[in-house]
Amino acid sequence: LSAEEQAVLDEIDEKNVDFLRLQFTDILGVVKNVSVPAHQAEKAFTEGIYFDGSSIEGFVRIQESDMRLVPDADTFAVLPWRSGEDGSAAARVVCDIVDTDGEPFAGGPRQVLKSVLEKADDMGYTVSVGPEPEFFLFKTDEEGNATTTPHDKGGYFDMAPKDLASDVRKEIIFTLEEMGFEIEASHHEVAEGQHEINFKYDDALTTADNIATFRTVVRAVAAQHDLHATFMPKPIAEINGSGMHSHISLFDEDGNNAFADDDDEFNLSETAYQFMGGILNHAPAFTAVTNPTVNSYKRLVPGYEAPIYVAWSDTNRSALVRVPDAAGVSARFEVRSPDPSCNPYLAMASLIAAGLHGIETDADPGDPVREDIYEFDDEKREEYGIETLPPNLGSAVDALEADEVVSEALGPHTSEKFVEAKSQEFSEYLTQVSEWEEDRYLETF
Ligand code: GLU
Ligand code: MG
Ligand code: MG
Repeated sequence: LSAEEQAVLDEIDEKNVDFLRLQFTDILGVVKNVSVPAHQAEKAFTEGIYFDGSSIEGFVRIQESDMRLVPDADTFAVLPWRSGEDGSAAARVVCDIVDTDGEPFAGGPRQVLKSVLEKADDMGYTVSVGPEPEFFLFKTDEEGNATTTPHDKGGYFDMAPKDLASDVRKEIIFTLEEMGFEIEASHHEVAEGQHEINFKYDDALTTADNIATFRTVVRAVAAQHDLHATFMPKPIAEINGSGMHSHISLFDEDGNNAFADDDDEFNLSETAYQFMGGILNHAPAFTAVTNPTVNSYKRLVPGYEAPIYVAWSDTNRSALVRVPDAAGVSARFEVRSPDPSCNPYLAMASLIAAGLHGIETDADPGDPVREDIYEFDDEKREEYGIETLPPNLGSAVDALEADEVVSEALGPHTSEKFVEAKSQEFSEYLTQVSEWEEDRYLETF
């Protein structure tokens, strides 16, 4: 055992942990757990714990179903809300997936991200990502089912007593802090019942692990208050949806921010602009991954602070990429399209692969757009050469299939399974008849 692994075993003893949740995500980003008695921890580190990969969305066929979960000791955390009255506790640890031969399983989302980060490392960079996940807190009904009735009537940056949820939010934050998160900021968002909690940027792998954990924690704490927390991108029509803006920067081998250049008007380096150019070039393709549900595209419409246009800006929120007023170690940009229904590993992998390709090909993001692009007509957009993001999941999947850079970053296994699952999801949606159609047509025709 490594020193970190031994430290985990010691902590299990010390804190009286009786169950260990082995956490991983399927291809769709749903967080999965295999729970084992804590005395299995040593075996988990040395041999891994077998599970049936064929029952996990997007993994393998029946014939190759023997896969193993191998915990990453760095990610061990006791679950604060699962401490028993008898002093016992449960903990979770994020796992990598290895196949029958003990090789990393190329189709595991965490492995996909690791491969892209290895490429970044070969180019001399570590990648930092700071996410801003938004979510809604809704009331539940007598049966405990989720409703779409917001839990409070607060608005942007409102304070108690209108921001009823601030107690719940505080509890979420304390729980996350107990699990090792560094919370940067939290506030009530624009819509009733909507919140944002930002945690400190970290290397992309840690951030992806954190996002998966974050979703679990938010939902668990909300449930204790008989509330349902949802990361669905657009739960209510005509009201702001939930995004997960992602702030990206690269650090070089000396630990300096490779995106920083104090002499530039926006404090960004040549490398930063190339990376941004890559993001803009591959935006239609990675949208399938960063915005992977039918509902995601109900958020990406004009007028609700979500981007639709493939452009960058230092001022306005209708652009895909926004450069915040920051310099030096904090120089970075914000990609505004991702939403919190994405698989965080695959989303980070495709964004980063797009950006790295931009560096390799000296991509040019063009000039910033200072005007509100929501107000542009088609002609003006054409004149500025501004493209739009795919209008729906079907178009996004087509764009992904046509893009070699993003497909390659996902690898043959994951891109095939992902495209298959998402095409099916979209076809199924197309056959549905919505309430809107009923309201509009039933009595008219
Ligand atoms: N909720 C908005 C979105 O859908 C973002 C609001 C903000 O700028 O924080 O992306
Ligand atoms: Mg926000
Ligand atoms: Mg933001």
